[in-house]
Amino acid sequence: MPLWNPTPFIKNLVGFLLQIICILFLYASYTYGMAKNGFFKKFKNIPDRRLYVILTTAAVFGCFLLSVLLHPAVLPPPPGDIRILPETASEDRIITVYDHKLCKTVEQPLEDYVFHALAGEMFASYEPEALKAQACAIRTYVVYKMEHGGCGKYAGADVCTDFASCLAYSRDDEMRMKWGDKTEEYSAKMRKAASDTLGEIITYEGEPINALFHSNAGGETEDVQNVFGGNLAYLKGVISCETADSYKYETEVTFAKEEFFNKLCAQYPDVQSGEICILSRYESGRVETMQAGNLTLSGVKVRAALGLNSAHFDVSVTGDTVVFNVIGYGHGVGLSQAGAQEMATEGFDYKAILMHYYTGVVLERFSDF
Ligand SMILES: [Zn+2]
Repeated sequence: MPLWNPTPFIKNLVGFLLQIICILFLYASYTYGMAKNGFFKKFKNIPDRRLYVILTTAAVFGCFLLSVLLHPAVLPPPPGDIRILPETASEDRIITVYDHKLCKTVEQPLEDYVFHALAGEMFASYEPEALKAQACAIRTYVVYKMEHGGCGKYAGADVCTDFASCLAYSRDDEMRMKWGDKTEEYSAKMRKAASDTLGEIITYEGEPINALFHSNAGGETEDVQNVFGGNLAYLKGVISCETADSYKYETEVTFAKEEFFNKLCAQYPDVQSGEICILSRYESGRVETMQAGNLTLSGVKVRAALGLNSAHFDVSVTGDTVVFNVIGYGHGVGLSQAGAQEMATEGFDYKAILMHYYTGVVLERFSDF
């Protein structure tokens, strides 16, 4: 961990002042030694000139040492920079993974887990740079989990294979099942995305981030505060470039009115039939609050109760029918997988993709986190 973690402005200011001090000391030494009648002649009464020379030299070296300590290799770089440290411990790091289908906890190298989770989370047909971005997000997600008590569902495991709790995960046999005769090609592609980003994790102010991601942002990601609460500077809403033909960009769901209220009733037993309309939206277009009969519910809660793809929807009521037009897929916070795919298609590399979706972060090698 860095000893000191200033803002980039302060870091630059201190570096600049140190350089000025270095120059002044050098100038003072020169003036004192060479020009007895110069500006620094007042020092002529110092009893031991050698002591002055020693102190001046020590000060110059001190400033030099501090300048070295301010170097990006020692201090975290400003947001948007990439810092790759030479040490990589992630190959050797063993994590505990609870396999919820086999009902057992296994020990697994972190990098091997990243490969299997990547295979579970992303389409093998996606661009290599999009896969690499997702690999970094997965690795960071695990490191963050390990630092925050591990899997919340299965005690004792760092992560589990249940996507509802942690991340999706494909075992070798599951990969063969979904990829068939393309298994060799696709698994090699996934392995490469993991190994090309070996040990790289996303950090903010020197700490691994909570690298949330989702399938399709539908044009704009969401501030984490509006979905999960909390204020994280690196999880703000950003423009996302999914197209209408990207995976699950738009879906339509139809309910009979009675079915609509029955589904809500399972979660909110006090609900009574009545008006259905949207009351307010966030800047991204996702629903903030909605009128559902006698209740005012958040878009996030309506999405969960009805099983909608996202909280970004329009609702129309015609007679006994309630129709939801839903944009995007997932909670909308952090990296959008479909957006990453679009950026990669347009030629952006995985670093640019990550810097876009996670505001003000840097990429570092997993070492002693
Ligand atoms: Zn879990």
